[in-house]
Amino acid sequence: MADLQALREEAESAIASAGSAAELEELRVRYLGRKAELTQTLRGIGELAPEERGPVGKAANAVRVALEAQLTQRTQELEASELDSRLAADRIDVTLPGDPPSPAGHLHIVSQTRREMEDIFIGLGFNVVEGPEVEFDHYNFTTLNIPPNHPARALQDTFYLSPDVVLRTHTSPMQTRSMEVKAPPIYIVVPGRVYRRDSDASHTPMFHQLEGLAVDESITLADLRGVLLEFARAMFGPEREVRLRSGYFPFTEPSVEVDISCFNCGGSGWIGSQRDSLCKGSGWIEILGSGMVDPNVYGFVSEMGYDPEKVSGFAFGMGIDRIAMLKYGIPDLRLMFENDLRFLEQF
Ligand SMILES: [Zn+2]
Repeated sequence: MADLQALREEAESAIASAGSAAELEELRVRYLGRKAELTQTLRGIGELAPEERGPVGKAANAVRVALEAQLTQRTQELEASELDSRLAADRIDVTLPGDPPSPAGHLHIVSQTRREMEDIFIGLGFNVVEGPEVEFDHYNFTTLNIPPNHPARALQDTFYLSPDVVLRTHTSPMQTRSMEVKAPPIYIVVPGRVYRRDSDASHTPMFHQLEGLAVDESITLADLRGVLLEFARAMFGPEREVRLRSGYFPFTEPSVEVDISCFNCGGSGWIGSQRDSLCKGSGWIEILGSGMVDPNVYGFVSEMGYDPEKVSGFAFGMGIDRIAMLKYGIPDLRLMFENDLRFLEQF
């Protein structure tokens, strides 16, 4: 009986000071398990003298019941305090917005290039405007000094939706659309998709263009050259030069083709003893067409104050895809639109 009392005191004090559920489980095994002293005592009762069996059995059973109750209570206490400390540590503010989805990709090479070009022209004082991809013949051709039956229409393989409506072949229609709603001065660039019936390594039926238009007092070809030189240097490096060659576009007069000095060979045309294949050994790369706005174009927006005696301006148009191909050494335009992740992930 004294042993039982000692066992009970020892067990109760161990259970009271246990610090975790795992420790309590150990104590349960030690004091109430199959090999525990108390269990053995209860099993051995039959070997005791008959008059001892009753009192010892009763006392041992009381110890067992008491320890079980204490273990259960202590387990609940510990679980409650473990929950409290977990709640304190992992406090979640449910009023915060949910986690943003982890990025699954990045901007397409064309979008990256378009934004970079927009940033450069915004830095030069231009505004970015966009226009419809389904366009009236009137804006796509006529107001750009390309009247019906003009041979220049044959230069652009046009998708006609109806006799008067086309998929725009350039973003130039926004020249007239912008001047119709804004008096001079005007400084805009127009990025966007354009469409021509054309398909090979350097042509796709859909491609991207960035048109530019500046109209103000006293704008000259030198301003055009300066703007394009700044663009070329921002895009292709501070060493770049530009050169203007005479060209032809219906809506500019004079018209110029613009080349930049080759960034691949530094303008020499040679890489070591090899002719540079990028510039075909010329040291120059054609990047765009441009020119001074033809006075006939102002004729369509004269009521907004575009008087060719008072204002002058320049326009240019370049392929966003072509700029990206040059900058990143992409050999085939079609790669841009095949959505092959092995290609897209490189940029
Ligand atoms: Zn070169």
